[in-house]
Amino acid sequence: MKYDVFLCCKCSGVCAGRASATTFKCSYCGTRNRTERAVRVVSGVESKDVPPTIARLKMERAKKTPSPR
Ligand SMILES: [Zn+2]
Repeated sequence: MKYDVFLCCKCSGVCAGRASATTFKCSYCGTRNRTERAVRVVSGVESKDVPPTIARLKMERAKKTPSPR
């Protein structure tokens, strides 16, 4: 099963959804996003690679925004 990694349109959380699905539910805020409207960060990720991919994306974002608040 392949997954795509998206950004939630509401909270900008990094979420994985099935590559073939038309919607995905954000694991942070519970918002149901339409995949066609959400920002697709990575596509075609194997299920075992989803957690490290999300971890990497979060780290990259943390570097780009050193002081978010
Ligand atoms: Zn969200």
